[in-house]
Amino acid sequence: MDKNACFRNIPKVDVLLEDPDMIALCEEYGRDIAVDCIRSCTDDLRAFIGKSDDMAEIQRRTDSLVADIRRAAEALFTPDLRPVINGTGTVLHTNLGRAPISRAHSERMQALVSGYSNLEYDLEAGARGERYSHFEKLLCRITGAEAAMAVNNNAAAVFLVLSALGVGKEIPVSRGELVEIGGKFRVPDVMAQSGAVMVEVGTTNKTHPADYENVINENTGALLKVHTSNFRIVGFTESVDIKELCGIGAKHGLPVIEDIGSGVLIDLSKYGLPYEPTVQESLKAGASIVCFSGDKLLGGPQAGMIVGKKEYIARIKKHPMTRALRIDKFTAGALELTFEEYLSEERAIKNIPVLRMLTRTPYDIAESADKLATMLKGANADIAVEECESQVGGGSMPLARLASRAVTIKPRNISTAAFEERLRRLPLPIVGRVYDDRVALDLRTIDDELLGAVAEGVFRALE
Ligand SMILES: *Cc1c(COP(=O)(O)O)cnc(C)c1O
Repeated sequence: MDKNACFRNIPKVDVLLEDPDMIALCEEYGRDIAVDCIRSCTDDLRAFIGKSDDMAEIQRRTDSLVADIRRAAEALFTPDLRPVINGTGTVLHTNLGRAPISRAHSERMQALVSGYSNLEYDLEAGARGERYSHFEKLLCRITGAEAAMAVNNNAAAVFLVLSALGVGKEIPVSRGELVEIGGKFRVPDVMAQSGAVMVEVGTTNKTHPADYENVINENTGALLKVHTSNFRIVGFTESVDIKELCGIGAKHGLPVIEDIGSGVLIDLSKYGLPYEPTVQESLKAGASIVCFSGDKLLGGPQAGMIVGKKEYIARIKKHPMTRALRIDKFTAGALELTFEEYLSEERAIKNIPVLRMLTRTPYDIAESADKLATMLKGANADIAVEECESQVGGGSMPLARLASRAVTIKPRNISTAAFEERLRRLPLPIVGRVYDDRVALDLRTIDDELLGAVAEGVFRALE
């Protein structure tokens, strides 16, 4: 068959619109969408015929045209952002949405999502209220801060704090703390954007109190400390801790700002995790403002928390950028529920998914792994339970490796790479790690409730 005949074989739009399948499609999605999909699929087919000499493939694509049009229409109405199963073991996986919110919390959020709320309405006074009011008291109680607010994320929080308190002023910061956090957040760049003048002190590995003292003058606006969340300098090192820095700040009447990165409210070293500075310690040491992420170790929604002294929070609230960076009602609601859990440490560890996953014991994870392996019996693959190591992720605790268990799967009918891709393309995608020619699913980040769905997905991907 020559190419012209192939082109002639493509049905015209009018003809296709009389096909019973396409009539059904028009009814389901509307005529405009159906016509759009018919046009784009026939255009694609025409383009393929133009560039291909594979007659069998041309025939196959022509035969499946109607089915392709239906799939194109269905794809338009299938949400692109959807749940995935995290089999990587990385608890704060930034690409997978960082901290998950518990089912109980998301159920409580449902009414907020679909109806009106008192977001900025004081129900007692019958007057305008503040969106931070729903969690401010809770957070002050937990951290010992005088006041609290939140913006879109911690990058925004740092930017806003520096803009409100440091514009046109000099802000000394240690050279050992000029870090880049993932996604182009670089301390020197944020500082430049905020309008504050960065004054670098000390060296990469050593900074002494005198380094700050030496640069303080009448143009100094504040002192800044940044937690080097995602990297560590080891060996011949020295830094000025928050307590010493606050001492210097007090002596010169300067506020001390700390970007503490992950918002840790519980000393996690009790649970076998590396020590991370807590928000409470920083405030107790005398920091005027502390900012941290809502969706890292805190385990809440994406947000940038700003806590500290009333007078500074009041100034930040008045800054024009606050309006541009403000949180929405969903975030305000999720923050309140998250902080409520922190009223008791036990509740927080049990009810906040991030903390629960990080504190799971290898023994507990092994039980889940055994359950999954049992469910996978009879699959066309070599299945095993193996020891593995999970990571915290999200630029937090970069050196920590948590002993965990994975179910490893080596398919017999297809390559490991093809299997990994099929898992990713499932309606409920499963993201795992590939090593040693096997797909490994780390059970630390897979809730037991999802084991059935994981098994179903694995069987489907092995078909
Ligand atoms: C993660 C991090 C940020 C950025 O926080 P986001 O909430 O991701 O915007 C800023 N500073 C430090 C020290 C961090 O660890």
